[in-house]
Amino acid sequence: MNLKNKVAIVTGGAQGIGRAISLRLAQAGAKVVVNYNTSEAKANLLVAEIEAMGGEALAVKADVSKFDEAKQLVDAAVTTFNTVHILVNNAGITKDSLLLRMTEDQFDQVIDVNLKGAWNMIKHTSKILLKETDAKIVNIASVSGILGNAGQTNYSASKAGVIGLTKAVAREFAGRKVNCNCVAPGFVSSDMTDLLNDTQKETWLSQIPLGRFGQKEEVAELVLFLVSKESSYITGQTISIDGGLVM
Ligand code: NAP
Repeated sequence: MNLKNKVAIVTGGAQGIGRAISLRLAQAGAKVVVNYNTSEAKANLLVAEIEAMGGEALAVKADVSKFDEAKQLVDAAVTTFNTVHILVNNAGITKDSLLLRMTEDQFDQVIDVNLKGAWNMIKHTSKILLKETDAKIVNIASVSGILGNAGQTNYSASKAGVIGLTKAVAREFAGRKVNCNCVAPGFVSSDMTDLLNDTQKETWLSQIPLGRFGQKEEVAELVLFLVSKESSYITGQTISIDGGLVM
């Protein structure tokens, strides 16, 4: 899969799954705009790593939950690389708590980053993507948005929202050959899953047919496929990558 001359924005692209995606798209030849919110040092290191392997990358700070900052991120991409062909909405947070204890702020923060952030980025890239040929949007959802997880009413709602957003955008943009799909990871080893305690990890492991957590690089390979021309006839789909947890 070759992304030569393609420009990609990866939100939350400096760390965790986002970092693996940024690196994989760069390895395939894309110019990558690595968005970060707090991980500035990691973003700069990643840009240096991509440049060292002969690629092009740009680190841009933006809180994607803020409409204006999301626009500034897209503007920075266009200023440096002229256009955008690929948008990967990866930025996400958790604020887990049982509903009885969850605060309004915990609910709002998760919706703002995970769902509104994805909408903000699609909104600001839309005119650019619609003018390009064969542009691609991939939104990172979660099995939590399909199954619903106790303790994650905010997160499950945000990720279910991302799946609905994906389908609506896929229908709106299909006429201009912009494909929009979702990737729904199960449990992938990362800072986010490190927050789970051992009992929670054991419980989930016992339900995963492949008997292990996923790797960030495995998610990145799926995203690469979905932003490549090889996936041209796939749109509006949510593809789980979860060791068989959801089937
Ligand atoms: P992570 O290591 O905690 O990384 C989260 C990423 O989101 C970071 O790059 C962070 O950027 C970025 N981010 C958070 N708030 C942001 C904001 N307001 N604006 C811009 N970027 C922001 O988590 P991860 O496991 O890699 O998760 C990546 C995505 O996969 C998320 O959407 C998550 O919901 C989804 N997912 C993960 C799993 C899993 O098992 N790990 C499972 C299902 C779905 P900074 O570090 O710069 O702040």
